[in-house]
Amino acid sequence: MTQTARSLRIAVIGAGASGLLAVIKLCEAGYDDVVVFEKADDLGGTWRDNRYPGLTCDVESHAYRYSFAPNPDWSRTCAPGWEIQAYLKRVARDHGVEANIRFGHEVVAASFDVDHWTLTTNHGSQGAFDVVVTATGVLHHPSLPDIEGLPTFAGACFHSSAWPDDLDLTGKRVGVIGTGSTATQIVKAITPQVAALALFQRTAQWVLPLQNPEISADRKAEFRDDPALLDSEYKRLNYGMVVKFADALVGANPHTYQRLVEVCQANLDSIADPVLKRKLTPDHKPGCKRMVMSDGFYDALKQPHAELVTDAILAVEAGGVRTADGRLHVLDVLVLATGFNTHRFMRPMTVTGPDGTTLERAWADKNEGYKCVTTPGFPNWFMIGGPNSPIGNFSWLLTAEKQFGYIKQLIDVIATGAARRIAPTRAATAAFNDALAAKIPDTIWATGCKSWYIDAQGRIA
Ligand code: NAP
Repeated sequence: MTQTARSLRIAVIGAGASGLLAVIKLCEAGYDDVVVFEKADDLGGTWRDNRYPGLTCDVESHAYRYSFAPNPDWSRTCAPGWEIQAYLKRVARDHGVEANIRFGHEVVAASFDVDHWTLTTNHGSQGAFDVVVTATGVLHHPSLPDIEGLPTFAGACFHSSAWPDDLDLTGKRVGVIGTGSTATQIVKAITPQVAALALFQRTAQWVLPLQNPEISADRKAEFRDDPALLDSEYKRLNYGMVVKFADALVGANPHTYQRLVEVCQANLDSIADPVLKRKLTPDHKPGCKRMVMSDGFYDALKQPHAELVTDAILAVEAGGVRTADGRLHVLDVLVLATGFNTHRFMRPMTVTGPDGTTLERAWADKNEGYKCVTTPGFPNWFMIGGPNSPIGNFSWLLTAEKQFGYIKQLIDVIATGAARRIAPTRAATAAFNDALAAKIPDTIWATGCKSWYIDAQGRIA
């Protein structure tokens, strides 16, 4: 139990994986007035929203879990989305934090006055809070393509994160726009079912083959009987992703990077059809965009009823997608797997600091944080997944735990009464961001590709 001189009222914004982590850890530490505001009617964030066919986590399940909530029963090496959602709900229930969540409350405004934040949701003012922890996720503002005629499409058309529950694709002609992690999972899953599949590719991706076998009953029993085994698996996988893989991408482990390149190239070379192989050959280095992991994407595209369309999209018409070669790709369903606007963070909520500056204005030029969790001018406003948070081919839950560990130290300082307001200085923030900017040119992300890591001004986050 944290020794407190002050009793704090703490708001957490978002009941996804990071928000749940925050409320669990705060309650465990003895903070007894924690309210989680969640705009939807269920918890789970990205795992609640995304329900497209083939959704799995491409991070291995025994790493994609909270350090404090091991799960011996993952069904596969990489669990399907519904299973991760069920896991998050179970962890929330086991830790008794569901009652802390106010569902259907979207925070629309937050303003700081003297030493507290006043939060307003779509249901009106929620009163004063000493501390706000934002856990609003990164992949939650759908990026919809600006394609002429899109609203005129006569069939079902939706973003991948808004998959209709009752959609039956059997015998349908389906178009998918995009070739990121989402599209590749969808294409693999739906191709056997549909009458015709057209995948509209703007940029070819490197694909790392990742097998996803079921975990046997015997193996699950071993995990259940031996917590140390679960723990060592968690550490081994995270070491592989964070230390080896991440080091390879930032130029600190050339040997592993070379191996990665070879594996991706061998995967591409497995395509016998020279035309398909040429179309799928990327023009950038592996890892520059977030790596796609798949063991069935290429195979799906080899099916006779699947077509990889590389001609640019000219327009969408009632009957389908018109490409630059003049052809109309006739479709019944059009899936927009076009990604997310990852640079909006917790906005559009209006966040107003003590001097009247809004976050929108403070971040007009660039999103700026100190060590990803705080930002100058906005005291006691702590972010899980703030600007420059490490996000890539590793477990977001691990990043969230590290960041929350730091936030918790700051909250404890306020609770002891040693400080009433905590915010980084502008000088410290500038030094931190300058140091990051100086390192970025050495990384793979700066080797020339377009990715969602890059903001509108071309800065790599
Ligand atoms: P994404 O990686 O941003 O991919 C979006 C795709 O849409 C790209 O291929 C992009 O082409 C294309 N696109 C966008 N606008 C377009 C337009 N106007 N015309 C044609 N093509 C257009 O998005 P995502 O696939 O949803 O994945 C986002 C992130 O979600 C992933 O990187 C990953 O972090 C996470 N995710 C994780 C999992 C998992 O298993 N853990 C699964 C799915 C997603 P360009 O490349 O040319 O821009």
